[in-house]
Amino acid sequence: MVIIMANIKIIFGVVILIGLIVAGFYFVSSTDTFQEDTKLTLNSNSTKINENTTTVKVIGHTEPGATVTINSNDSSIATLYPKVSSNGDFYYEITVPTSMEHMVLIVEAIANDKKPSTAIFTIERIPPITVVDTPNGTNNNTTNSTPVENFIGNKYSMIFHVPSCEWVEKMSENNKIIFENRIDAINQGYQPCKACKP
Ligand SMILES: [Zn+2]
Repeated sequence: MVIIMANIKIIFGVVILIGLIVAGFYFVSSTDTFQEDTKLTLNSNSTKINENTTTVKVIGHTEPGATVTINSNDSSIATLYPKVSSNGDFYYEITVPTSMEHMVLIVEAIANDKKPSTAIFTIERIPPITVVDTPNGTNNNTTNSTPVENFIGNKYSMIFHVPSCEWVEKMSENNKIIFENRIDAINQGYQPCKACKP
């Protein structure tokens, strides 16, 4: 009788031990191992916008019935909360203030009994193109541009100079004549200056 009671105690002990192991296994597996990630893909992960753009569409795909949030649904940027269609497609319309040069959006999708997934979407505003005036050369093809002053003649003395010659500074504006090359000056009877030797 004592031996039988001892055996029963051992059997109970083993059964309880096995029960704890099995229960522990199910507890661990149900909370972690068997939980899948929610499917989430974006059509694009970034976009570039110009200085006037104020809305950007974020288009993606998740699972039917999943919930999608963006930056935890910050109402200052999201004007339209997405509806996930029956095939899992969604789109978001984002408001981008014109002062915003760079924006990082965190898109999160979660389906029932699955782990949430996140994707990053970045928006970059291209700065406006600034036109820089170059001092010379860019407008040479316009018809009304002033000719390049290669040589300057004096109508009174019939002598021509390079523009930097000191005699040009002393010359009266009324006496000045511009030549694009020295052959033109010589053909019109002008003599080269002995100081600047054009
Ligand atoms: Zn000269």
